[in-house]
Amino acid sequence: MNSAKPVIVVIEDDPQICRFLRTSLSVQGFQVVEAGTGERGVVEIGTRKPELVILDLGLPGMDGIAVIRKVREWSAVPIIVLSARSQESNKIAALDAGADDYLTKPFSIGELLARIRVSLRHAARLAGDGLETLFSAVSYR
Ligand code: CA
Repeated sequence: MNSAKPVIVVIEDDPQICRFLRTSLSVQGFQVVEAGTGERGVVEIGTRKPELVILDLGLPGMDGIAVIRKVREWSAVPIIVLSARSQESNKIAALDAGADDYLTKPFSIGELLARIRVSLRHAARLAGDGLETLFSAVSYR
């Protein structure tokens, strides 16, 4: 990795939410990579090797659930779903497909950041010290 900042890939087709996430996450020390479609998101995850993924379910073309299934074929990257779909069946489908967490819109940025920290903490425990160092850099800012 050539950047000290943890990378988050945001897969979201709503420009306003993208802008809001980019601003909020950048302030917290993350590098944000945006993808407006599921296909693009899968490519970004493959090439950028992010520390975390934030994923919308309702996307043009490839659906969010399909993105999770695809990514889970070759990556254990933490995936937090951010969706307007509040039905329990959607949450279950996303979590069973391999998502780590699920937040419904409208969401609070404070809660999203806390859940990001939880996901990074879990990933760090699984991966050993590499991520742990990255996580410390973010959490103690
Ligand atoms: Ca959407």
